[in-house]
Amino acid sequence: MEPILKIWYDSLKEGKILGLKCKRCGTVQFPPVPVCGECSGMETEWVEMSGKGTMYSVGYSPFGIPPFVDDPVVIGYATMDEGMLFSATLTGAKKKDMEKLMEKTPLPVTLGIQKMDEDVYFPCLKLGENSEESSGK
Ligand SMILES: [Zn+2]
Repeated sequence: MEPILKIWYDSLKEGKILGLKCKRCGTVQFPPVPVCGECSGMETEWVEMSGKGTMYSVGYSPFGIPPFVDDPVVIGYATMDEGMLFSATLTGAKKKDMEKLMEKTPLPVTLGIQKMDEDVYFPCLKLGENSEESSGK
């Protein structure tokens, strides 16, 4: 694994969601890549993500997230406040919710951390406080 990804995954395990910020132009890469996608700068520093974003679409993965999740999952597509696009499991959402969610987009979402396996953690998306779905029934 690339050292950058190792640091990233290790920090997820500790409950921190990090992005890699380019020192030259300020662009934040998330998930991190060693070279800035904006200006090709290679001097970077770790920053903690705001964790806030706006979900503009939802999708569906009938095969789950191989090799960790076999059950179908709903995927959220979001623009994070730092500017990048990010897609991940939309925690708690079911296939039957998708149509309703689509009608309501854009919706506020936050980043969370999902345990996929022993020692494997992925970032995920959670519906923000303003959405009715999170209030439960
Ligand atoms: Zn840059």
